[in-house]
Amino acid sequence: MVIDVIIPAAGSGTRMNSKENKIFFQIIDGKSVLFHTLSTFCNIDYIDNIFIPCREEDEERILSLSRAFTGKKIVTVRGGETRADSVKNALFLSSSDYVLVHDAARPYVDKTLIDRVTDKMLKNGAAIPVVPSPDTVKEILGGEVQRTIPRSKLALVQTPQGFDTNNLKKAYESVTSFDGVTDDASLYEKIGKVYTVDGDKKNIKITTKEDLPIETRVGVGFDAHRFEKGRALYLGGVKIESEYGLLGHSDADVVLHAVMDSLLSSVHLRDIGVQFPCTPEFKDISSVTLLERVMKMLEEQGAKVMNLSVVIVAEKPKLATHIDKISQNIARLLGIEEEKVSLTATTTEKLGFTGREEGIATEAVCMVKLIRH
Ligand code: MG
Repeated sequence: MVIDVIIPAAGSGTRMNSKENKIFFQIIDGKSVLFHTLSTFCNIDYIDNIFIPCREEDEERILSLSRAFTGKKIVTVRGGETRADSVKNALFLSSSDYVLVHDAARPYVDKTLIDRVTDKMLKNGAAIPVVPSPDTVKEILGGEVQRTIPRSKLALVQTPQGFDTNNLKKAYESVTSFDGVTDDASLYEKIGKVYTVDGDKKNIKITTKEDLPIETRVGVGFDAHRFEKGRALYLGGVKIESEYGLLGHSDADVVLHAVMDSLLSSVHLRDIGVQFPCTPEFKDISSVTLLERVMKMLEEQGAKVMNLSVVIVAEKPKLATHIDKISQNIARLLGIEEEKVSLTATTTEKLGFTGREEGIATEAVCMVKLIRH
């Protein structure tokens, strides 16, 4: 007996707001959505061939990703206009007895669920996994509630859906339009009975960016600058009245320098020395301008700052009256709430260069969340 799998992957990712097909987004261990989906099916003995309907521009990438899996024949098929068109293209290439159809964008499917669907399919001809609806469902027309549908009668349908291949082919041939067809069972229901098995809440379909897993990272930064008479003193982008400023190629804002290094470190982008070298372009430049560029770099990496802790080590000037203002300014520059930035000022009890009042040192630690894709 032959059991094939069809994994439609020809989606355009419009709901993801991305030019790239969501099946290539990295989710776990640097591996893509499609990799994880394929990996589960490729490790099941009773599965024979795997058909992947896809867009022409994605075909090479899918084939190269498929080479990681040996022992199964993985075939790409040209995707159609709709999901149903795509499945149909693959279905009529399969000469299997049974076929499982699974959304490429459900990477958390596991073998126990596939086993449940397969058992029921072999027994009854067609099986789908379902989960209860956690929310109340209403029928709406033009913004007006028509009726409330009893929740006990409702189920949310997942994949894989399993079918007798010949019957599914008949079901596909029984309609002339795939308008409004969002799963294969809805076609099969026209010619035969479909049975349910328990689905799995973890088996979600990645549809929007919110469905992607969030990775958190920490970053650390340290900086020190010596005092220089007659220079302006900037700490955290705030000008502090003082007869001493700090010496440096830029405005020498030791606090923002440590903050920027922690941010760059969290996303593996080295440090400000590498990003903004001692060239004429950056001579006396405001560190606020540099931080704005760093925030752009983080945005490009899909990183958002969650919180920041900063320790300023200085014997002078006394910072107690400036702490709140500096802290608020950093929060504003990072675009996060004030309570997510914590500033600590300390001395070194006359020890070392800060104790001898030769300069100021700062350490910063940040946490960022990353949405990788
Ligand atoms: Mg510096």
